[in-house]
Amino acid sequence: MKKNLIDKLSTRHFLDHGEWVQLISGHTEEDTAYAGGLAREITLDRFGKRIWFRGIIEFSNYCGCGCLYCGLRGPNARAERYRLTDEDILESCEAGFRLGYRTFVLQSGEDPHNTDEWLTGIVKRIKASYPDCAVTLSVGERSRSSYEALYASGADRYLLRHEAASPELYAKLHPARQTLQNRMRCLKDLKEIGFQTGAGMMVGVPYQTAEDLAADMEFMAGFGPAMIGIGPFIPHHQTPFAAFPAGNTDMTLFLLSLCRIMLPEVLLPATTALGTTESSGRVLGVLAGCNVIMPNLSPLSVRKKYMIYDNKAGTGDDPASGLRKLREQMDSIGYEVVVSRGDYGSKE
Ligand code: SAH
Repeated sequence: MKKNLIDKLSTRHFLDHGEWVQLISGHTEEDTAYAGGLAREITLDRFGKRIWFRGIIEFSNYCGCGCLYCGLRGPNARAERYRLTDEDILESCEAGFRLGYRTFVLQSGEDPHNTDEWLTGIVKRIKASYPDCAVTLSVGERSRSSYEALYASGADRYLLRHEAASPELYAKLHPARQTLQNRMRCLKDLKEIGFQTGAGMMVGVPYQTAEDLAADMEFMAGFGPAMIGIGPFIPHHQTPFAAFPAGNTDMTLFLLSLCRIMLPEVLLPATTALGTTESSGRVLGVLAGCNVIMPNLSPLSVRKKYMIYDNKAGTGDDPASGLRKLREQMDSIGYEVVVSRGDYGSKE
């Protein structure tokens, strides 16, 4: 039982490399339960039994990257590609707004169609129609000047998981032209520019060791992200990692709890991947310290095409029934889904 190390993290918000490795490598279900209880208390103290929800609009699955784990990777010639029109995107926002969404997350592959001109235009149109809503972008690595233009157009937040803080692991997960150095440059630029910036990684991705996860936690302790996205790796049958096993739910929950303990204010989603490896994954995530859920707002016609991994949860629910299910799930554990932007540092 790693009680001492978990207690130390909760008082000092810092562990050294050896301590992280020890905490992660020898972890047991008992540790998950202990860290989960502590994380839950911290979350209740800070946020109460309130869950913020964000609507994800997966607007394009074209991608020029070659991430070995991802079903949308450019070299996957069997992926059926699509790109939503501006009108599709605005209609998704409209439907979402009526349901109570106050954050729209625009996510896509690294699509060459995502020019600064087009992206800033769509952000401005959304902000003009919904001035009280936050816009989050998750469109990958771009230049600093591009990020500046996106921020100036009104985007509030940016999600760019660091994927792996260990250079060796990063190189095993990506083609040589995609470098950890550039990923880190992007994250630094985003934060400096003023975005509420999200980092994160997958758990149980091929070749990942306890040392690698320790490096991820140390990176996040230093960087101080506003948001952290962590979910289990899930294989996609059309990728080089098709034959690897999925990541472990218990380990994912443990790391989520450690993130909450390390960074009490962080916005921590119970991810779709967590709800895919375990049907009650999102509930377990909330009980382990998560305070955000990001249901899908994309039109149903394209849901099954945004397959970053196999059997992704929620591809059959229209926005209204997806939200109803979420409310029921949260209701069952006494939590309430709240209508508000839910910015980093806010209690509203
Ligand atoms: N192109 C955007 C969005 C990527 S998809 C970007 O680069 O930020 C969002 C996240 O899904 C990725 O950051 C990755 O961590 C996760 N992901 C990709 N493939 C996955 C898989 N096979 N299993 C679990 N998560 C995966």
